[in-house]
Amino acid sequence: MTARILDGLALATSVRGQLAERAATLKSQGVTPCLAVILVGEDPASAVYVRNKVAACEKAGMRSIKDSYAADIDPAEVFARIAELNADPEVHGILVQLPLPGHFDEDAVLEAIDPSKDVDGFHAGNIGALMQGNPRFIPCTPYGVMKMLEAEKVNLKGAEAVIVGRSNIVGKPMAMLLLAQSCTVTVCHSQSRDLAFHTRRADILVAAVGRARMIRGDMIKPGATVIDVGINRLPDGKLCGDVDFESAREVAGRITPVPGGVGPMTITMLLANTLEAAERTLMEKTA
Ligand code: NDP
Repeated sequence: MTARILDGLALATSVRGQLAERAATLKSQGVTPCLAVILVGEDPASAVYVRNKVAACEKAGMRSIKDSYAADIDPAEVFARIAELNADPEVHGILVQLPLPGHFDEDAVLEAIDPSKDVDGFHAGNIGALMQGNPRFIPCTPYGVMKMLEAEKVNLKGAEAVIVGRSNIVGKPMAMLLLAQSCTVTVCHSQSRDLAFHTRRADILVAAVGRARMIRGDMIKPGATVIDVGINRLPDGKLCGDVDFESAREVAGRITPVPGGVGPMTITMLLANTLEAAERTLMEKTA
């Protein structure tokens, strides 16, 4: 079997087109969706992510604000800026690019963002709402994965879903979303015994670890849907996922490539969350 390759770029382009139409409608009603992004420090990967997010906003007809701070900035200044953005009715989404320098309390920074503007969905209140099955903002990467599964009409009800990785930004929210769709969910991590035993049972396998090509074809159930969230840079500078694409595609039924799979959907869902936040403010205004 050769797996069907799920084209995240094509889906992202189509969804972004729909979002741009919704943004135009909002604008015609006097609301321009606006995302504020805070970047602290000079980490090159973070700088690229922020640049891409800002560019995606502009392209979809949304406004963006970018605040950059030196790595040694006093955290109080960042907290003060977050408070300002929280209070600004023209700002609908606020995002602090992670990771932050070591002298920052990351959790405290995330908690300082108004939950109704927390478009990354990392605020404890928003994580709680997701757990309760009543999400306000879904974290962008797992949200993008769910959109890909939905677009492919993957049957989730009763399916065995195995997630490798238990981070707050990918693994855990992914588990909640698949559970909400009635999958039977297993979450594996660095202490899991016999990883392959679990992955071979998966109808839906999500890899979110950050270790190049660790999931090989012989760890995959024939016909499974394999979602590769990992982004790893190889010594030759190329990107690859957590799944060994060449051996996996011979076994899986569907597979996402890296690059061009989950990555483009992540920023797309950030735009979706920002737009939803802006739409909610308009609804509140007119209610
Ligand atoms: P984290 O480092 O926060 O989490 C990695 C997880 O993998 C941990 O839960 C860890 O377990 C687990 N793990 C580590 N080694 C193993 C192992 N040998 N076997 C099983 N599990 C293991 O990473 P993130 O969740 O932030 O990101 C994961 C990957 O996804 C990265 O490559 C990242 O770049 C990528 N990413 C991609 C995005 C996209 O848009 N496509 C967005 C976000 C992330 P433990 O908890 O026990 O330490």
